[in-house]
Amino acid sequence: MAQEEKNNGEVRIGFFICHCGVNISSTVNVAEVRDYIATLPNVVISQDYKFMCSDPGQDMIKNAIKTHKLNRVVVAACSPLMHELTFRNACEKAGLNRYLFQMANIREHVSWVHDDRVKATTKAKAHARAAVSRVAYQTPLEITKSKINPDTLIIGGGIAGIQAALEIADSGNNVILVEKEPSIGGKMALFDKTFPTLDCSACILTPKMVSVGHRENIKLYSWAEVVSVSGYLGNFKVKIKKHARYVDTDKCTGCGQCWSHCPATKFPTRRQIIIGKDTLVNEKR
Ligand code: SF4
Ligand code: SF4
Repeated sequence: MAQEEKNNGEVRIGFFICHCGVNISSTVNVAEVRDYIATLPNVVISQDYKFMCSDPGQDMIKNAIKTHKLNRVVVAACSPLMHELTFRNACEKAGLNRYLFQMANIREHVSWVHDDRVKATTKAKAHARAAVSRVAYQTPLEITKSKINPDTLIIGGGIAGIQAALEIADSGNNVILVEKEPSIGGKMALFDKTFPTLDCSACILTPKMVSVGHRENIKLYSWAEVVSVSGYLGNFKVKIKKHARYVDTDKCTGCGQCWSHCPATKFPTRRQIIIGKDTLVNEKR
């Protein structure tokens, strides 16, 4: 049964604001925020406590959910990165769907970055009010499991893309490396030396380029572009457009004999082809 149905469609929000010892309360007037939030629509209880994440603090939330038939909870405290899970679990233990919870970060975003108590309190009220407004629109969600595709797509075969591809491949995962130019290597292939050691650029790069070609779990698409990405985490669908090479790449050995008979004296980059031949003079490879 949805939480509102239990309360005849009524949204009942519990608001809890944390002092974090003095981390928040030394800059934010916690009592003022608590009393202000108590006046907002749908808020049925507004309380403060020294340490909301402690067991007594969590018990305060659990008891309020049961006593006041809360179907939404907001905690104004630290970053959700620190304690969102703590409070979601507390809500769930009291019978409330864990996604009917919202957190306002009034420590990292307010008390730690301001010293004007009046302005900090006004900002904390705004953060808390926003969280209260938002939580009213939240709906219960259920956690589901779905299969994911662990393959990695890397767009760009410069030195960063090459190194990432090799390291991911070393970890035993499949990599799809897409490079828009006819060859991987990127800008590093154009340098003579690397900063700050002045090592030979090609000596570092070329073994890695060769390695990419030899790894069975790296699928390289050079002279190709990603044209669309759809789907979601772990289930992306990517469309790659391969440009025509006019040679059979399975048979070509890269001997270069055809180049000497080619009427063009320079091999253009993809960008030059798109912009037009006027740029060839300035953008020789
Ligand atoms: S919930 Fe966050 S802000 Fe409150 S006491 Fe714990 S760490 Fe500090
Ligand atoms: S001549 Fe050499 S480089 Fe050119 S297409 Fe034939 S095998 Fe490839």
